[in-house]
Parts: sequence; C-alpha cells; structure tokens
Amino acid sequence: MFEQVDDAFCSQWNPDYSSKSSTCCRPTRGKRGRMLPCDLRRVKWSFCDELTQEQHETLQRSVDELPRDPLPEIELRLMEQDLGSLRRQAYCSIGNGFLVQGRPVIPSEENRLIVKNPRRCTQFGTDLMVAMLEWTGRQIARDYPSENGKSAYMILGDLSAPRGGCISGRRGRRGHKSHTNGKDVDLGFLAYRTPAQVHAPFDRRFDPAMNWQMLKRVFENPYVCIKSVFVDRAHIKKLRQWVQKQGDPDWARLGPLIRHVRSHRGHFHIRIGEGPGLPGCPEFQQIEGEEDEEMDGEELSQQSDPRPRTSERRPAKLLRNSL
Ligand SMILES: [Zn+2]
Repeated sequence: MFEQVDDAFCSQWNPDYSSKSSTCCRPTRGKRGRMLPCDLRRVKWSFCDELTQEQHETLQRSVDELPRDPLPEIELRLMEQDLGSLRRQAYCSIGNGFLVQGRPVIPSEENRLIVKNPRRCTQFGTDLMVAMLEWTGRQIARDYPSENGKSAYMILGDLSAPRGGCISGRRGRRGHKSHTNGKDVDLGFLAYRTPAQVHAPFDRRFDPAMNWQMLKRVFENPYVCIKSVFVDRAHIKKLRQWVQKQGDPDWARLGPLIRHVRSHRGHFHIRIGEGPGLPGCPEFQQIEGEEDEEMDGEELSQQSDPRPRTSERRPAKLLRNSL
C-alpha cells in the first residue's frame, strides 16, 4: 500500500494529481510491471510554469541580491533551526512523490554550486537536500581553492521540479525513476573548470582523488544522511583502487553505499534520507517504493535546452508533440 495523503492537499500540491484517480501517490508501474510515462500535461522540457509565487520571488531575489549578499538565506536559517523540527516537504516515495514548498539551489561563489540548466527549473529540493549541497559546496571551495582562473564547481543536473512530480525524458518517456520529491540529485564529476565550461554537458572524465574527497564531504554533511550514491561501475573501480592505494579506512564504511547503476557514466546520483544520521540512514525505516535502484536517462543529462530561440519559438502544442 502506498501512503494515503489528503485529497485536497494533494490537488493543491501534487502536479501529477488527477481527480480521475482516487490515490494521491499513484503507482509508477502499470500492468506487467512496465514503467508508466509521465502524464501528458507534464511532457515538457521546462517546468518553470509550475513555480509557486514564493519560489518565483526567491529566484528573483537571488538574481537581484546575491552579488551584495553572498551568504544565502538557507545557510543562516538552517543553522538557527533545530533540524528535527523542519517542516515536511517530501511526500509519497521517490518514484511517485511530490514536493511541498521546495527550495531552489542558489549558486554563489561561496558554495561553488552550478545549476546546469536553470531555465529548466528542476533545481528544487527539500530544505535538507539544499542544505547538504550548500554545506558540501562550501567545503569544496575550501578544499580546492581557485587557481589560474579555474574552480572546482559542483555541477547540478536535475533535482526535482518546483512541486516535484514526474520528470519527462525524450519522446514522452519517464526521464528518471525518481527525482519526484526533492530527495535525489544528479551531480557532475568534480574537476577544475573555467566559468565558461560549467554549462557544458556532463562529461565522463573522472579524477578519483577529487571525487572521493567530494563524496566524503557529501557523506559527512551534518544535515541529512546519505542513503545511496549511484554511478557506473567503471568509476567505482577507479575510486576503490585509488582509495585502497591511499589506505583510507573510510572505504570499508562508505564503499558499499556507492553502487553501480546503468546510465551513470557522466554523473553521480545521490539520494538522501529523512534527517541527519549515519551514512546509509540505518536510523530510518525503509520507505515503501524507495528500493535501491535508479534510472537516469543519460541523454537527459547530456541534453541542452532543445527549445528554439524566442524569435523562432513554435506553439507549445507543436513543441510538446516533438519531445
Ligand atoms: Zn538521477
């Protein structure tokens, strides 16, 4: 049985909600176990039309004020709060959920975070997710100071849409198995890059030293436990060989949480738990539907904005049919 969520609340927040369906947390698989595509209304490249007024204002403020206020609000607010009393934002499970009052990632020089496709509006997560990324990015800025005009940026692919829900991929198929409730993030491999290189597609070059350091920082963030990291086995092998050569004892603890999943040759997929805790989140019960599997359309991460320039933009209906 999937979680029961109040219908009125669901219709207000869940972008996949349909009054025809009697359940809020709809199954993601149909008969014979086949993955269901996203609802037709949500087959699109950009989810910016789903922003709440508050999210819209937060994004606008970040553009207007960030140069003068380099410490984003999230850092201050979370430092002052008891994390245990944080509001609930992630509903249903990672594959069929939605996100309430999702928080956007706000890139800054301090946090070294880059949103690869900001015009897609899929940089929303729970407060815990954004706090984890903010904290990790600030550690990376200290671990790897800028040099020769290059910095070690943490490049973010999809998190979740403004209100979560299904993210479509090519030809109307489901783009991810998860990424529906703010608890999953696709993260490019860490490398020194110039600012001009950060919006390029994820690439497969993999520096085991830098990426092991980044993963250790991710795991040790004080805000939320990390349930799993998914990446291709070829990179896991490089990591393991490098770490064992260094004699780092943390591999025994963290290595089993870094797992192979297909279509992850160009990025990590990181899944968080429900609150702060040990790597793997043993304190929290396994939530139904949150099995340790993942599917990211690799092409989705490689994809740049397919929309024509404004002057040649086609009607939305035509565009929808072409995706
Ligand atoms: Zn992913």
